[in-house]
Amino acid sequence: MKDLVIVGGGPGGYTAAIRARQLGMETALIEKDHLGGTCLNRGCIPTKTYCQNAAVLRHIHNSQEFNIEVGQVRFDMAGARQRKDNVVTRLVSGVEKLLKDHGVEKIKGRAVLLDKNTVLVDGQIIQTRNLLIATGSIHALPPLPVLDPEMVVNSDQLLELIEVPARLAIIGGGVVGLEFAGIFSAFGSQVTVLEYQPELLPAMDLELGKRLRVFMKKQKIIIHTGTVVERIESPYSPWQVTATGKYGAIHVQADRVLIATGRKAYTDGLNLHQLGIVTDDRGFIRVDRHMATNIEGVYAIGDVTGGAMLAHAASAEGVAAVENMAGIMATVPYHAIPACVFTSPEIASVGLSEEEAKSGRIAFRTGKCQFAGNGKALAMGEPDGMIKVLADQEDSIIGVHIIGPHASDLIMEGTLLVQNRMKVHEVAGIIHPHPTLSEALLEAVLDVKGEAIHLSPPRR
Ligand code: FAD
Repeated sequence: MKDLVIVGGGPGGYTAAIRARQLGMETALIEKDHLGGTCLNRGCIPTKTYCQNAAVLRHIHNSQEFNIEVGQVRFDMAGARQRKDNVVTRLVSGVEKLLKDHGVEKIKGRAVLLDKNTVLVDGQIIQTRNLLIATGSIHALPPLPVLDPEMVVNSDQLLELIEVPARLAIIGGGVVGLEFAGIFSAFGSQVTVLEYQPELLPAMDLELGKRLRVFMKKQKIIIHTGTVVERIESPYSPWQVTATGKYGAIHVQADRVLIATGRKAYTDGLNLHQLGIVTDDRGFIRVDRHMATNIEGVYAIGDVTGGAMLAHAASAEGVAAVENMAGIMATVPYHAIPACVFTSPEIASVGLSEEEAKSGRIAFRTGKCQFAGNGKALAMGEPDGMIKVLADQEDSIIGVHIIGPHASDLIMEGTLLVQNRMKVHEVAGIIHPHPTLSEALLEAVLDVKGEAIHLSPPRR
């Protein structure tokens, strides 16, 4: 009898397994595919590897600003894919070794839940005191006519291309769609993004999507928001995407079409309903603040429970679930989960957006600092973007939103401020090194009270 059986070896499942071993639990981890799940194999890591290819290409194209002349540039997509695969393989084998070193029993196969204490894997029965479901998510496809995997692809398939499509249409202007838009635009594709909502990145503070749109247009990415895609058809090559936008019909010619319209819980074949595990109307498993389902001893974490659907959220939930099983009361600080978008420039957010604060009737003030006035950003040749800070009536920082260079690194300071509900005057007393991008965050915090040093006072 195991203390814990975990189904799914993504960032949620494998992190939970290691924490469980640290707490002395006999633990088995069942994975049907590769360790690392979506994150390592088809998500965070492969896309960020390509983001780096895109960044190097942008630097080369921008080299004249730094008085460097570069000869002819040739991009090898097949080579980039190989590099991506090498990075993935290295990380997956790192997770494999970690699990082994921590004494987690790894079982390869597809798990079926027979009851709350019994799991079946390829004919093998495993008994357990606790069960943790960490089976992640898969693409949610819109109800559009037949998808031809050769041409109309999901993000898994786009990652495996060995040639850059001349024209790429992307359906969905959320995080995944826009990261691929930035990547393939830098690789040389003519990219068109079609988004149903009125703004890009509709789940984030709307100012971020509005500003990103301007920067993406400069990169010659065509964007249609408020647009309903109706058909994807190909009587002859190329493919044609037909949509209705604000100003009438839109026809986009494309050699590849990426569908990036969100993800849904992956629970196929698990036998959830036989066990009586409650899901919401979209199929995500319902859990309480300790990650427990409605069945005693059965917990669920990560993408399969919906919510933030980010790798670091899945890992934090995995740790919390296991600690709760071990009798350590643990919860996840959902008010301070940072989210990053690896576009050019990067975007990162933590805490409440302006729209969320308004709809929650929370009185707030904002402070802003543009990177155009930041010495480090100018020296780097990356002055695009800004930092916005929201503080409530007690001057506690409740949201930080960044678009600009290294936003994904800068957001960690914002996360500390929001998670600890720090006050404006407390941050004002923290010395930020010069010249760094972090000075822009200090200035945005000071601007909440009109006390930024490097901003002119408002005209009287
Ligand atoms: P997963 O990583 O999906 O792992 C679930 C695992 O369970 C899989 O390996 C699956 O094979 C296994 N499994 C399922 N059913 C069974 C079964 N019955 N038996 C055995 N095994 C089973 N997040 C970020 O934080 N940052 C990013 O930059 C980022 N970029 C992304 C880019 C893309 C293109 C995509 C698609 C996602 C991205 N994400 C990113 C999201 C991130 O990948 C997920 O939030 C994260 O992987 C969820 O972790 P998880 O452990 O819940 O599930």
